[in-house]
Amino acid sequence: MEIYSEDHKIFRQAFVRFVESELSPHIEEWEEQREIPRWVWLNMGRQGYLCPWLDEKYGGSGADFGFSAIINKELARAGVGMGIGLHSDIIAPYIYAYGTEQQKLAWLPACSRGEKILAVAMTEPQAGSDLQGIKTTAVRDGNDYIINGSKTFISNGTTADLVIVAVKTDLEAPASKGISLIVVEDGTPGFTKGQKLKKLGMHSQDTAELFFENCRVPVSNLLGEEGKGFSYLMEKLQQERLISALGSQGMAERMLADTLDYVKTREAFGQPIGKFQHNAFKIAEMATEIEIGRVFVDSLIVDHMAGKEIVAKVSMAKYWIGEMANRVAYDCLQLHGGYGYMEEYPIVRHFRDVRVHTIYAGTSEIMKLIIARKLGL
Ligand SMILES: Cc1cc2nc3c(=O)[nH]c(=O)nc-3n(C[C@H](O)[C@H](O)[C@H](O)COP(=O)(O)OP(=O)(O)OC[C@H]3O[C@@H](n4cnc5c(N)ncnc54)[C@H](O)[C@@H]3O)c2cc1C
Repeated sequence: MEIYSEDHKIFRQAFVRFVESELSPHIEEWEEQREIPRWVWLNMGRQGYLCPWLDEKYGGSGADFGFSAIINKELARAGVGMGIGLHSDIIAPYIYAYGTEQQKLAWLPACSRGEKILAVAMTEPQAGSDLQGIKTTAVRDGNDYIINGSKTFISNGTTADLVIVAVKTDLEAPASKGISLIVVEDGTPGFTKGQKLKKLGMHSQDTAELFFENCRVPVSNLLGEEGKGFSYLMEKLQQERLISALGSQGMAERMLADTLDYVKTREAFGQPIGKFQHNAFKIAEMATEIEIGRVFVDSLIVDHMAGKEIVAKVSMAKYWIGEMANRVAYDCLQLHGGYGYMEEYPIVRHFRDVRVHTIYAGTSEIMKLIIARKLGL
């Protein structure tokens, strides 16, 4: 099945060249700095690689989801953190779908230029999988909301200029009805960002706690209707999980490619280690699972572009490909022997980075819950 047109293929070649020349040489430096610097965002914005799907009037080029899929997968394959895809294809769509014309014109062109970086803040110290349990409140006071509470594990948390914050606007309503989404701008009094959190992996991706203390935000920063935040989040999760599955797939493909090169050249007992049947079979097993993942996720890209409701299938892909990429990481590292434990080999970074793929954007267990519910359980 071929899902990409000639235009997509030409775009992919150009984007891969861009990644190889402009991004890959700097990854280690960004890992040290614990963030991707602003010039990268601005550079990607100039090239049209941020939010390419946006209408021209908001700074995009009206590209279909296939172009976003290519960008996300190639960034994952190169080992560039997930914050850029999160900004372009997970968070900006909220503003596009639920924002007023005024909000869209005020924010989206700057997002596509890389001048405004986006974050979405749902998770709290006491509420992750159980999003309905959030405690951050926004109380109406004249033409403002006053926000109090805190969020954690927020990607792009320290670099973000605009944060879409999930808050409770109605404490009496059932949780699914009392949540709203409010855009908080960096620099708003009462809004502070914590230090970059120290993580197992994805070191070039900044992740932070965010604090709101009597943070006054104009009502005009409400996204969509009050009380509909939970259903907005649910509506957009399909694309978020598809992007996450694509990221896992990209990483799995990269790890296998690197390992294949390694086992062909590393010798033991007088022959390349890939020639030992056990290792050859391991590689064959991984290649098979990776191909299954690729075909599955590509079919979902087609369905998603056709506007189909594929919540159960993207949950399957998010869970299965995330877990598969972790199995691949384990076996690829093992095939590198002691060098698989040394920082100079990229497998080490991929092994660390891929671990979170079964956790963020909904854990594997939550994905299984969704699948089971769709099956009537
Ligand atoms: C690097 C990183 C980046 C992140 N980026 C963001 C971001 O940008 N914005 C944001 O809002 N959040 C973000 N998150 C948060 C992430 O989405 C949550 O960590 C995740 O949803 C899990 O929530 P939790 O950590 O509270 O775990 P918990 O919900 O406490 O879960 C703990 C364990 O219990 C299991 N569990 C929970 N409920 C059930 C159940 N009903 N049945 C079976 N098992 C269950 C879980 O699967 C998990 O194994 C990020 C997290 C990380 C690590």
